[in-house]
Amino acid sequence: MKQQFDMVYCIQCSTLVPVGSVEHTFRTGFYKVKIPLGQCISCAQKERASKELGPLITLPLMA
Ligand SMILES: [Zn+2]
Repeated sequence: MKQQFDMVYCIQCSTLVPVGSVEHTFRTGFYKVKIPLGQCISCAQKERASKELGPLITLPLMA
């Protein structure tokens, strides 16, 4: 039985992603005990993009 130590559970998209596709790994929690929690690259990029676009998004768009 192969163990999944090379997988990280992305808490944002709720998916197991390979360690190579992980931006952050959290050391504070584990999914099913042995799979570390983290954030995959695509979620990290989305978060970064939304931070950059944040001030624009908060402008009133219905003016
Ligand atoms: Zn993700």
